[in-house]
Amino acid sequence: MRWSQTLLPTMKESPEGAEIPSHVLMLRAGLINQVMAGAYTYLPLGLRALRKAERIVRDEMDRAGAVELLMPALTPISLWARTGRVDAFGNVLIQFKVKRQNREVHLALGPTHEEVVTDLVAHQVSSYRQLPITLYQIQTKFRNEERPRFGVLRTSEFLMKDAYSFDTSVEALNASYDKMYAAYCRIFTRCGLKYLPVEAESGPIGGDASHEFMVVADNGEDSVVHCAACSYAANLERAEIGGGPQSITLVAGPAPLTKVDTPKVGSIEQVSKLLKCSPQQMLKTLIYVADGNPVAVLVRGDHEANEGKVRRALGAAKLELADPETIEKVTQAPVGFAGPVGLSIPIWADRDVLVVANAVIGANEADKHYTGANIGRDFHVPADHVADLRNAGDGDACPRCGQELALRHAIEVGHVFKLGTKYSDSLAARFLDDQEQQHSIIMGCYGIGVNRIIAAAVETSHDELGIVWPLPIAPYEVLLAPLNVTDEEVRGAAEKLYDELTAAGIDVLLDDRDQRPGVKFKDADLVGIPLRVVIGGRGLKEGQLEVKWRREKEPSNVPVAGAVPKIVEMLAAERAKYAP
Ligand SMILES: [Zn+2]
Repeated sequence: MRWSQTLLPTMKESPEGAEIPSHVLMLRAGLINQVMAGAYTYLPLGLRALRKAERIVRDEMDRAGAVELLMPALTPISLWARTGRVDAFGNVLIQFKVKRQNREVHLALGPTHEEVVTDLVAHQVSSYRQLPITLYQIQTKFRNEERPRFGVLRTSEFLMKDAYSFDTSVEALNASYDKMYAAYCRIFTRCGLKYLPVEAESGPIGGDASHEFMVVADNGEDSVVHCAACSYAANLERAEIGGGPQSITLVAGPAPLTKVDTPKVGSIEQVSKLLKCSPQQMLKTLIYVADGNPVAVLVRGDHEANEGKVRRALGAAKLELADPETIEKVTQAPVGFAGPVGLSIPIWADRDVLVVANAVIGANEADKHYTGANIGRDFHVPADHVADLRNAGDGDACPRCGQELALRHAIEVGHVFKLGTKYSDSLAARFLDDQEQQHSIIMGCYGIGVNRIIAAAVETSHDELGIVWPLPIAPYEVLLAPLNVTDEEVRGAAEKLYDELTAAGIDVLLDDRDQRPGVKFKDADLVGIPLRVVIGGRGLKEGQLEVKWRREKEPSNVPVAGAVPKIVEMLAAERAKYAP
């Protein structure tokens, strides 16, 4: 492709409203163009990168034995009603009515396709002989994103690879799952992403039922916990904490329980400032409603309660923070002053609460706190109500090996999940076994955000000058930069090189613009094509070209004669680095 003939609008300045490097650089390098909040046009270069990632995904899905199909984005709302997901998705599901002749048709734009694919299988599969099968598509998904941001990372319309496995037993599902997991590892390796598979929420199958594939990035919206010593990794919702105190530690000579005035001061931060105590010295009392019953949960002032852990510890099906009305009823005080002393509802405590002596707590009275509160003396928590109930953080003990955990931000690029029979039950997807007995088909689902592969690559591979593409998903592999295109010798050499490299199967972008070298070099760095080849008049006189990897500082000379095989060889060696 010639630069002058494609649409490649590079930008010098950071565009307004772009907050993170991948968003800024994708706009500046002319990969995408915003249509409205959360909707982007992929310009030619951006689309090439996207297509390359898509090709790798398709290649590995096929290799893993998955079968491609294409389902419609437009779906009947009735399908979503059958699985209860009209309510579950709520405002996220984009739905609308259209008129067809004299009737009204209620439609939804698919945010995912469990319903459509399960309905398909319910109609087309009836015997164990037709299973297992894994079906996939690469297709546009829609979800009403209330706060679209971060460029293509959070949008209402995005390109997904979604796969669904159908099996006759949990063992067979595990085998299908393992195949997809392995394919994902190959995909992200081939795309040049440094990824981390992390344990995610466990589904109806229980156990090791779900993994997210994360790319660690400072601006990632997800949080993951990682142990460098044993490679335990989990998302924040799921991450366990090792060790921790198991029994109450009483201090010698505890302080007396004292009620103090804290007028209009309810938050941990405000109270700690007013009473000059650290948040570690305070206990937060959170009032939840678990399956309709209020409970109190204590965590140290500097810790965050983990709702998943609380829900599991309580054995509750549904858990939510109590509304202000309930809190006032339970504590007899306005929100912000709840405390464990004198509470008549069940109290649960995170393990770390056990060792906080002379704690500051709410007094269940407006504008009052207690200081000098001690567990075992001033309030009680039954031993079986003490558990790991908080989010893991930096420096916590690894649940596997006891070494320190690290908290990292990350971008989720893929998710594999053992679904079980949730959808096959509601949509009557059943099979007959070899005894003519009918069973629900056991499913798994597997998603990859193709746009996110591109954004994660840019987010984690750039410098102050621009993008540094990993070769396999770079829009072009080689950028040819003739320095003075009005010089016939230079232009001739560039054209010849362009033809020969293209004939050798290499993706080449020829910067044929009549621009100053400074402009060309700046744009080359911004757009980030992996291998830059400079053709200059002086070099040609000495029979030399300048070759430079985008990631390197200094170019090296390559003789014009033999330049093509040399470049082909360099690219082959580079490509080999991304082999799974
Ligand atoms: Zn560990």
